[in-house]
Amino acid sequence: MRIVLLGAPGAGKGTQAKIISNKFNIPHISTGDILRHEIKGESELGKKAAEFVESGKLVPDEIIVEIIKNRISSGGLNNGFLMDGFPRNLSQARMFSDMLGELGIKLDRVINIVVNESEIISRLSRRITCSVCKSIFSVNNSHRNLEKCPNCNGDLIKRKDDDLKVIKHRLEIYESETRPVTDFYADKGLLVNVDGCGEEKEITKRILEVL
Ligand code: AMP
Repeated sequence: MRIVLLGAPGAGKGTQAKIISNKFNIPHISTGDILRHEIKGESELGKKAAEFVESGKLVPDEIIVEIIKNRISSGGLNNGFLMDGFPRNLSQARMFSDMLGELGIKLDRVINIVVNESEIISRLSRRITCSVCKSIFSVNNSHRNLEKCPNCNGDLIKRKDDDLKVIKHRLEIYESETRPVTDFYADKGLLVNVDGCGEEKEITKRILEVL
């Protein structure tokens, strides 16, 4: 199964990507997670990417292309893959199409998780993430005092780009740069919109129904 998961920041891509990739036993490829890993390790790539990620701007395409090429050439994708956070603009989408075409691979589905803006702002302002297993939690009554991840005991962190000003900037960039990618895949007959509001399990069920 070869899947691309689209949606605004905070639509629930990361949470659903983990569940769906486990279910189909396919690698979950998150360009955001790869970038945060490189930034934490202070690699050359991480140093180039840091200012973009932290201010909510898109990282230049050449860095993203390098990440995707490296990930594809490292293998393990015979069963398929689930792309989360890539492609993020039209030039990445075209480049990815060309890359898959050269490898003789076709995408099966592009899922667009749809959530309204006020819900997104509320979710991202409350989001905390495990720095180790990448599980995502919300600071609500049951998770208010969490410091360690209940799944792996890793440190829970608030992402720098989950600050309100940066969230608003990321949403603007989503509208101008990433929304056209949904049209690109709709024209290819691959896009399915899925309502991203409601319980996590309910949203997973909606996604599985269209896969
Ligand atoms: P995400 O974890 O998908 O929300 O991504 C976090 C940040 O990483 C984004 O706001 C961008 O700065 C950067 N990023 C992730 N994926 C991409 C991509 N495909 N193209 C450009 N920048 C990206």
